Amino acid sequence: MRLLIIEDEKSLSMALKELFVCEGFLVDTAFNGVDGLDNALSGIYDIIILDVTLPKMNGIEVLQEIRRNRISSAVLMLTAKSELEDKINGLKSGADDYLTKPFVTEELIARVWALSRRNTMEYVNETLFYSDIELDRTHHELKKGVMRIKLSAKEYQLMEILMLNKETVVKRDYCITKIWGYESDIEYNSTDVYISFLRKKLTALKSKAVIKSVRGVGYVLGESE
Ligand code: CA
Repeated sequence: MRLLIIEDEKSLSMALKELFVCEGFLVDTAFNGVDGLDNALSGIYDIIILDVTLPKMNGIEVLQEIRRNRISSAVLMLTAKSELEDKINGLKSGADDYLTKPFVTEELIARVWALSRRNTMEYVNETLFYSDIELDRTHHELKKGVMRIKLSAKEYQLMEILMLNKETVVKRDYCITKIWGYESDIEYNSTDVYISFLRKKLTALKSKAVIKSVRGVGYVLGESE
């Protein structure tokens, strides 16, 4: 689970980061609205904790931009009690939950876990389709007809990205960030290794779907001519 914390009180932000890292989340932080929005628009976060009062751009504006760009991350707003009355309408326009400051950390952790479960529930049993193949998102298998092949965790994540963006060039940087996160120091060509594994599996399934490389940019899932 990837979590973004947009909060300008650095001591609170750091405490929350530590807390959620212990809970097993991959956590990034931003200390103002503009940087926070920039991170959020990458679309890689499952959950965003968003403070209302922020420098440069307030939390409500950040939230509106997130939703306007169709980013589906669950958003939990943090708001001071005094702000609640007039902000409530703003919150209704796209926040999934909110918590008033000061809050008990156990309460925040419980809310975030609830949001994470809700997000996961949404695609349990869902299957992605492209050309003659299916991606089983529950069992992480690639299927064609009655044939099925198990994918490793990284292969699955990569295939999911390609299928969600079928016939569109997906940048290699995007894949790396989405799978390994911002702070990873993985080799730039690591994705090529997993792409080659996926190609072998597509070949084994005798699928018409192929992963083409776009030199210097990334990959695109298409059909062989
Ligand atoms: Ca604040």
